[in-house]
Amino acid sequence: MSSWHTQPVNEVLKSLNSSEKGISNDDAGDRLKQYGYNELQERGGKSPLRMLWEQFTQTMVLILIVAAIISAFLGKNIETIAILAIVVLFGVLGFVQEYRAEKAMAALKRMVVPTIRARRNGQVQELSARDLVPGDVVLLEAGNVVPADMRVLESANLRVQEAALTGESEAVEKETGAFSEDNLPLGDRKNMLYMGTNVAYGRGAAVVVGTGMKTELGKIADLLQEVESKQTPLQQQLDQLGKLLAILGFVAAALMMVIGLLIGEPLDEMFLTAVSLAVAVVPEGLPAVVTITLAIGAQRMLKRHALMRKLPAVETLGSVTIICSDKTGTLTENRMTVTAIGLPDEEIDFTANADQQGRIAVPEKAAVALIIGMLCNDSVLKASDGEELQVIGDPTEGALLLAASRAGLQKEALEKQLPRVHEEPFDSTRKRMTTVHQIAGDGSQLPALRHFSRSGYIACTKGAVDSLLKISDQVWLDGRTEQMTPEWHDRLLQVNNQFAQNGMRVLGIAYRELQEPHNNGRSLEEKLTFVGMMGIIDPPRAAVKSAVATCRTAGIRPIMITGDHPLTAAAIAKELHITDNAEAVTGEMLNDMSEAELEEVVSRVSIYARVSPEDKLRIVEKLQHKGEVVAMTGDGVNDSPALKTADIGVAMGITGTDVAKEASDMVLLDDNFATIVAAVEEGRVIYDNLIRFIKFSLGGNLGKVLVMLCAPLIGIPIALSPLQLLWLNLLTDGLMGLGLGTEPAEADTMERPPRHPEQSVLTKSDLVYVSWTGLLIAAVTLGIGAYYFDRANPEDTSWQTMIFATIGFMQIGNAIGLRAYGHSPFSYKSNPLFVMMATLTFLLQLVAIYTPFLETFFGLEPLSLQDLAISLAAGLLMFLVVFAESRLNRKTNEKAVAARA
Ligand code: ADP
Ligand code: MG
Repeated sequence: MSSWHTQPVNEVLKSLNSSEKGISNDDAGDRLKQYGYNELQERGGKSPLRMLWEQFTQTMVLILIVAAIISAFLGKNIETIAILAIVVLFGVLGFVQEYRAEKAMAALKRMVVPTIRARRNGQVQELSARDLVPGDVVLLEAGNVVPADMRVLESANLRVQEAALTGESEAVEKETGAFSEDNLPLGDRKNMLYMGTNVAYGRGAAVVVGTGMKTELGKIADLLQEVESKQTPLQQQLDQLGKLLAILGFVAAALMMVIGLLIGEPLDEMFLTAVSLAVAVVPEGLPAVVTITLAIGAQRMLKRHALMRKLPAVETLGSVTIICSDKTGTLTENRMTVTAIGLPDEEIDFTANADQQGRIAVPEKAAVALIIGMLCNDSVLKASDGEELQVIGDPTEGALLLAASRAGLQKEALEKQLPRVHEEPFDSTRKRMTTVHQIAGDGSQLPALRHFSRSGYIACTKGAVDSLLKISDQVWLDGRTEQMTPEWHDRLLQVNNQFAQNGMRVLGIAYRELQEPHNNGRSLEEKLTFVGMMGIIDPPRAAVKSAVATCRTAGIRPIMITGDHPLTAAAIAKELHITDNAEAVTGEMLNDMSEAELEEVVSRVSIYARVSPEDKLRIVEKLQHKGEVVAMTGDGVNDSPALKTADIGVAMGITGTDVAKEASDMVLLDDNFATIVAAVEEGRVIYDNLIRFIKFSLGGNLGKVLVMLCAPLIGIPIALSPLQLLWLNLLTDGLMGLGLGTEPAEADTMERPPRHPEQSVLTKSDLVYVSWTGLLIAAVTLGIGAYYFDRANPEDTSWQTMIFATIGFMQIGNAIGLRAYGHSPFSYKSNPLFVMMATLTFLLQLVAIYTPFLETFFGLEPLSLQDLAISLAAGLLMFLVVFAESRLNRKTNEKAVAARA
């Protein structure tokens, strides 16, 4: 039914066979069978058929197919079949890898299905948004992504951002009443919520009326899913490299033709040779290796609790130069405990004087602060099996509940006497929240309450002390109030600073008596009476200190950005050695700065306190302007712009809102700063591996081309037949490439500075490497080839087998040497896939040389043991030279690093 918005709440519930309390679990199970999971059908990504098609329509493959057709016309049946076989093999290889990569990413995406809170069996339960059915009653709060189409049942300032659906960027206030007009546009159905929109503010409850493809979003899902998957910057660069190589391949092929014809080889023969040579130049395996390496990288990151939402981010991570991190929960444990209460005239140490049951006797004047902290609070305590009370909700609020309960207060009982009738939720710009309570009890059980029974309502406010002092005009002194004099003001600020200096998060507590549950249309947050403040400790996480140190050796600057007090921020930053510059800048100071000043500040200051989400955005933009690659964490609704702008937006997996997660590139499953650093390391490893593969592949290809082009100079007209060339190409670019793509981290991965993001894929030293390895392969191979060629009688082609074997083994030697590039071969970390691929390549070489059928097929001859040993020795030589060079290189690098330090 499309007219849910015209029915009053009770009718909606009736026709859905539900109630305010939701449905039962059994009923939900039945409905799930009937309606299916609440998910959009994936139409995104490429279909397998399309992926397969793309493999066979790549330029190089097309050239091969044309070559096969021409050779068929020339009557070269074996070559035709062989070329086609290679086309199919590369096609399948590419397809399998791309398919695996796509599947892996899809699986990762499914892991971020939000958990929602619904009323079932008369209780609030947490469940996966996938399991929602029509009739479910869902509780919503700021930061939730609306999980289905719903009719609003309750709204406490519930405001929803519906731009995704309606294009309207202003959040819409939701209400519960019915509308009479049947065909209102979606944007005006203010009692409805639609899947995929974001709760920007407030809280509410709503009943599900449509799930999955039967939602408004489902109707347009097909449109939304037709987004082109973009290439990563590296893929783009490699694409260009590929095109360049294609041109070079063409040039080499043309040269080969000319040379061949000059020395009188037949045209048809030369045509095939030239084509094969062109194929040899181009690293066909490259796109597949890149895709799979990124996807495997994403899986490795997942093992370290970093969930990648976008493939390009895997590679960007490797070049991150700055990590901007929240303090609370990311650098610290988010296990908060109240350890001190600061009243205007006294400070109470809340760690001392606990009795056997952990109860703490507090003076009555502190009780009021605890009561307000418990009332102005959306979290709950749950007694778990082992007596320990467990916090459900915001840890800061949990700390207040725990403190109050240790003083003998109980939230449920309190809320009976003081039911909440209105509220103004917390947001990180105001840095405070307010709830309004009706005074229903007579206060007989709660002595502290007798102070308030004169008025009908009480507004309870908690928040940052500086933010509360601005709106307080009285102080509360054990039962009476006094004017907020400058003396009181200074004294309270001083207590606040003293707490903050010890690294505590400080929460101020205030109240205001009201005759009505509102303030005549004005904000509730004015003319408050300041009661006191809670000092909360939140210890730094154990793993973070070393992660911060790693950052700094890796040339990455950690920056702390927090909503907390600058002194708290500085104390924690000092403890974690975030920076040597203890200067903390506040959001207010940032606001007063000119662009030029800000630019100077961001390059120097690493502690930002009392910032709002808008400040975060400004900081990211300025850092990026200075050429930095910025990773930025965020958890709140308002963090989306900063997360989207950052090069790597990092959302908190545990405390983060769904909205933040949707805006992010990466989700930290454990909310831990150390995980970001681990992900950066993986990002660097991936990049290293791709470069390793490219160096290997290009060096080998250069070798082959030189052998082919130079062989006529020493009297060998055609060094390798087309089939032999294609086979070598398949083994090395295909198999060995895969193995090289999965190398583990090098010893110094996190001891060198980040790669410059605009640096071209291949640096000068990489090009030098490619050149000399290519030259070495060519020189050794041609030397051996010439020696055997001179001795051979006309029918003997073992010289060609020697060339074939030598090139193959030297490539294997090159690959093993490249593994050693970062570390000594004695400390090789295990890479089973590489060992497998190297062994397989080796065995396949032997199979080609020694199996009777294949041997004739490829035009090879079985080598004597001695000859085989000679070609193997060439492979060993290759390894040793590469290895020696890497040692030398490392020494110079180390010297360079030492010189810099
Ligand atoms: P952080 O960046 O450390 O997560 P927040 O934006 O969460 O900082 O908090 C900033 C300030 O707002 C805190 O120092 C505290 O004073 C206040 N605050 C935090 N949580 C609440 C809350 N639930 N209710 C009221 N005030 C809060
Ligand atoms: Mg926070």
